[in-house]
This record gives sequence, C-alpha cells and structure tokens, in this order.
Amino acid sequence: MFTEEWSEYAVGATGSYSCLEFHTVSHVTHLQAALNIIQDGQIDARLVFDHSRLNSSRTLVVWVSPNEWDKKGYFYGHVRFSFDWKPLVADKNFYYVETMKEYNPHACRILITDQDHPELHPYDPSRRDGPWWRNSVTGADHFNGTKTLEFLLETDVPIASMRSLSFVKHSSERCSLHKDPANCSRLSARNAQARFVAGILSDRLAWKFERFTNLAEITGSVRTGWFALKADFSNLPPGTGGALRASDSASAAVARSMLSFYGKGDENNVKALASLFSNSDETLQTLETLAEEEFGDVAGELGISSAK
Ligand SMILES: [Zn+2]
Repeated sequence: MFTEEWSEYAVGATGSYSCLEFHTVSHVTHLQAALNIIQDGQIDARLVFDHSRLNSSRTLVVWVSPNEWDKKGYFYGHVRFSFDWKPLVADKNFYYVETMKEYNPHACRILITDQDHPELHPYDPSRRDGPWWRNSVTGADHFNGTKTLEFLLETDVPIASMRSLSFVKHSSERCSLHKDPANCSRLSARNAQARFVAGILSDRLAWKFERFTNLAEITGSVRTGWFALKADFSNLPPGTGGALRASDSASAAVARSMLSFYGKGDENNVKALASLFSNSDETLQTLETLAEEEFGDVAGELGISSAK
C-alpha cells in the first residue's frame, strides 16, 4: 500500500483524542520575546532553531500549534498568543516539512505559505491521511492530539489579529531558551503574568493595548497581571526612614525603576527602591498613578485607578 511520510500520524476516530476539532492555534514564547512582539506589533518570521529541513532554504516562519500542554507545561515560554485558525490558512499552500522523531511525542511540521515550494511534498488536509484533517463537507478542522502538530507560517503575524492572550505553565523538563529549564519553571504562570505587566509599564508599551479594549480575553489577562503585580508591591516590606511620597516629583522615576527590576525578577533591587518610600501606601499610590497614565483610555477597562 502507498503511504506518505505523515500516514502513521493520521487522525483517528472523530471525537477521540486522536481527532480533536480546533478553531484556534497558539504561539507560545518567553517574556522578553513577548514584550518585543507587543513593541513590534507583530510576531516576526524567523529561521527555525533546530536542524529542520527548512534551514537549508533559509525559510523564515512563525510557529503556531493547536496542541495544549497546560498540565505538562510549555517549553517555549509562559506567554501564549492565540489566533483564529481559518484566516491564517485561507488561500495558502500547504506542504509537509518533516517529522521530528527526537521529540516526544513526535512533532509533525506543516508549512503554510503563499510561496511555491517544489522541494517539499504538498499536503492536502481533505484526504484525512495525516495529522491535520479538514472535513471537506463541513470545513471543520481536526488534529491528532496524541502527537505534536506544528504549523510553520511563512509570514509575519500581526498581533492586531490576536484572539486571546494568556499565561501558561512552563515545562520543568525542557526550555527552548535556557539549558536548565529550572530558570523558567521556577516562575509560575501567575508571576510571569505580573512580570509581563511590569515590563509593559516600564517599557512604556501600554498604549499598544488601546486597540484591544473590546477583547475581554486580552484585557482580562492584563488586568489579572496588574492585580498580581499590585499585590506583590503591597507586600513589600516598609522602608525604615524613607521619605519619598507619591506627590514628590521623583516618585514616578523610582516606581518605573522598580517595575523594570521587578520585570527582570530582581527582587533585591525592588526592595531597595521600595525602602525609599515613606510607607507602602505611597508606593502603591505612585504605581497606580503611573499605570493610569500609561494605560490611558484602557485604564478604566482594566480597573486601574488611583485613589484620589
Ligand atoms: Zn524557558
């Protein structure tokens, strides 16, 4: 019987774990990369980092996947950008790139592109003989949830088309960025979320969220991160002999530095700067005023307000 290299990864019985319907795909990344994405307004297509077939052609791609690793944790980072799937693949060509068998479970890679790639095998999702199946009658998309399915989009992906932003657990076994995954897995999704919002404020990126005000799945994540951040700032030990007050002209600069250190996980320097304030109410008041200014029109959506 004639079989393709993807046949052993074909979807199984409809409704089983090996044939799950999906509507969105996600790009998961580390904190600094996520801040860069917010800054750039898009996920930049890049070279594949491992020894992929695409490296010889220097093909630049953005990775997305329908798989969820909420229990095991993700090894690409803590920040998950999710997108509606259908618009990403409309009028595109599909090619099977490779199966990475050194990964567990094996990872199947499919290229989604406007380009022609005669060096690759075209992939037809309507044939139901591989890890991605599109029902040609209903148009519904399914994937084999017992495997890893990676879609490589040969394009930059604007975040204006993002459906949701969420924060996930990092794998304790592997990290795509650090040799020792403990660098990341020590950081909970909750703390990653708080650090992300600290980075948004210290890097002055908050205004970028104005375009998402009506998307609860994005502003909700930012709001949760903001409350976590505020809780951590209110737990800072009070200074002994600090004199700084929220109304002082230097207070915002000190708070911005605290946010920058906090975003990088440098607790000692956050505490050192906090001790300059006369008490934690003054620290919090300064933080709230700063956040309210940075988020502008979005501040109301997020429930950020300084007690006046
Ligand atoms: Zn990591």
